[in-house]
Amino acid sequence: MDLGRRCLGALGLLGLLGALLGCGAPPERPTVDWEIYGGQLIDGTGTPPRSGTLWLKDGRIHAITEAGAAPFKAARRFDAAGRVVAPGFIDPHSHGDPQETPAFENFLAMGVTTITLGQDGSSPEVAPLAPLLAELDALPLGPNLALFVGHGTLRTLAGIGRDPAPSPEAIGRMQALLDDALDHTFGLSSGLEYNPGLWAPEPELLALAEVVGRRERVIMSHLRSEDDDALFEAIDELLAQGQHARVHIAHLKSVYGRGAARGDAILDKLTAAQRSGLRVSADVYPYSASYTGLALLFPSWAKAPEQFVEAKATRRAELEAYLKARVLSRNGPEATLLGSAPHAGLTLAELAERLEKPFERVLVEDLGPQGGSAAYFIMDEDLQRRFIQDPRVAISSDGSPTGFHPRGHGTFAKIIEQYVQEEGSLTLPEAVRQMTTLPAAQLGIRDRGQLAPGLAADIVVFDPAVVRARATYAEPHRLAEGFDALWVNGVQLRSGGAFTGATGGRVLRPSP
Ligand SMILES: [Zn+2]
Repeated sequence: MDLGRRCLGALGLLGLLGALLGCGAPPERPTVDWEIYGGQLIDGTGTPPRSGTLWLKDGRIHAITEAGAAPFKAARRFDAAGRVVAPGFIDPHSHGDPQETPAFENFLAMGVTTITLGQDGSSPEVAPLAPLLAELDALPLGPNLALFVGHGTLRTLAGIGRDPAPSPEAIGRMQALLDDALDHTFGLSSGLEYNPGLWAPEPELLALAEVVGRRERVIMSHLRSEDDDALFEAIDELLAQGQHARVHIAHLKSVYGRGAARGDAILDKLTAAQRSGLRVSADVYPYSASYTGLALLFPSWAKAPEQFVEAKATRRAELEAYLKARVLSRNGPEATLLGSAPHAGLTLAELAERLEKPFERVLVEDLGPQGGSAAYFIMDEDLQRRFIQDPRVAISSDGSPTGFHPRGHGTFAKIIEQYVQEEGSLTLPEAVRQMTTLPAAQLGIRDRGQLAPGLAADIVVFDPAVVRARATYAEPHRLAEGFDALWVNGVQLRSGGAFTGATGGRVLRPSP
């Protein structure tokens, strides 16, 4: 059709103007920022890969078209041929200090575009949170940050500390602090194996769960115990809070549980809870060692510094006996790998040999509950694999840029390298789902985690055949390889397997 003549015929002078302004020329294609073409799209929902082109504009996915279609003109183009294009991964349980390491390159290098902070009951001890958020937002952030408010922190802010029986007024203060913090955070984290959270009685936890439920947020919990013989009781404690709010088991594990059947039994418990109408989810990391402060080994009466001083003076023999039994039940001092200076890289057994004394005395005399962190080889791979394969369980790292454990630099690469490529115990679309739409739903993040028009342009490009987790227990800070290109909010942070130097992350705001 001759558009020029039709314009003129229909509209006279106006049409002539139209023709002069381009009515007769082929229409200009709208411009966008990026065209990512040639790759196989894995959209995060678990559906099989398909070829297609992604168009990014103003930090969002503007459109997704069939391969070869070109309805837009892109300022920049990226050839993803031979590779997978997926939503950037969302880590539902991570650690780190954005003031210290705002780039979080360890996460970006393994395809992660959103991390969560304020976990295990501990978040910055400030109220209100708004000024801190503005400060964080001004940092040159690599990934996006989704923040949680810590239950232990609320105890501290409310002046409860380690009080095992807080008054109704004190609980009311915690509820008010929580309600305010939930304006800016995705939920409440608890760390019931740590101070001061471990002192919380049930009425306190239920009162806080009511607030979380009313605000439609989630409780992410490091359970009161992860020991196999205490695990069900600890899960029941969280499920009681589930009467009021969505609940989530952080880094699901069974300490010294064994075998796939035991993993299935634990998952059956979640199924039963879901059937009864509770909303419960979980995450898991793919390593058989945990990693946390040495205080975890100490009894509740000797965890805090002043408690430890007193226990050392008045209950020394009892303390050493407790530590000996606890470490032996956790596979012994050979299975405790110290991760902090000056002993990083030595097992507790090796340090005891060097110091020529029993390991329980080393713990009391040379380390103490504040004496650093360690990796504990206490998990069974066959059992943990059942969690990794469960469609309700998201992949998390529980890692940080600085922790002396490979999970902080290797997790998401290890899932693809080992569980998808080597073992075939997960398909790639399912693994991607457990690293994108699933954690997004668990966290209540609605505008990212999937390749879909209108969603945030957090994108990763990789060839699954060459993805490698290079971090080891001896060298835990080696970056993952194989995640060639990565965008956060439409800004390219990685290209050709290297960092571009650009920053793109934001502090995410929860939906009201
Ligand atoms: Zn934890």
